[in-house]
Amino acid sequence: MNWAEVEKALLNPSPRNILDNDINISLFRLVRFVPMKYMGRGSDSMMYRAGKDLAKMLNLKTVDEVINFCKDNKIGIVSIVSEGPLIIRVDDCITCKGLPKIEQPYCYFEGGFIAGCVENIFGKKCQAKEVCCAGLGHDYCQFEIKFL
Ligand SMILES: [Zn+2]
Repeated sequence: MNWAEVEKALLNPSPRNILDNDINISLFRLVRFVPMKYMGRGSDSMMYRAGKDLAKMLNLKTVDEVINFCKDNKIGIVSIVSEGPLIIRVDDCITCKGLPKIEQPYCYFEGGFIAGCVENIFGKKCQAKEVCCAGLGHDYCQFEIKFL
C-alpha cells in the first residue's frame, strides 16, 4: 500500500458526483471516537500522533494560517491566550463541544495537530497538553505547549 498517495488523496479529495464533501458533525464524531470505544484510552497517543501527522502534511507556516485553516475547516476558533508559556485556546471544538464531562480530556487528535503546527512554525519539538476540555467540564479547549 502506498500510504503517502492515500494521504495526498485524503487532503485533496475529488468532489463526489451528487453530494458535496461536507458531512454531519455527529457522523464525524462517531467515526472520530471509534478508536476510543474499542481501544480505550490507549488510543489517545495514536490520535495525538495522527493529529501531528496531519499538521506535518499541511505544513502551515504561520499562526494566522493555522487560525484560518481551523476556522475554514470548522475545526474550531483558535486563539493565543499566552505566548510565554505558549497557551492555545480552541472555542467551538469540532470534537468535544457539548460532550459530557468524563474527568479526562477528549481532544488528543487536536492536541497533536496543534503540537505539529507549533513545531512547523517554530522549528522546535514540543508537546501539547490539553488542560481545558468539555471532558474536564469546560466550555472550551485549552492546550499548554511545552518545548522539549
Ligand atoms: Zn477538548
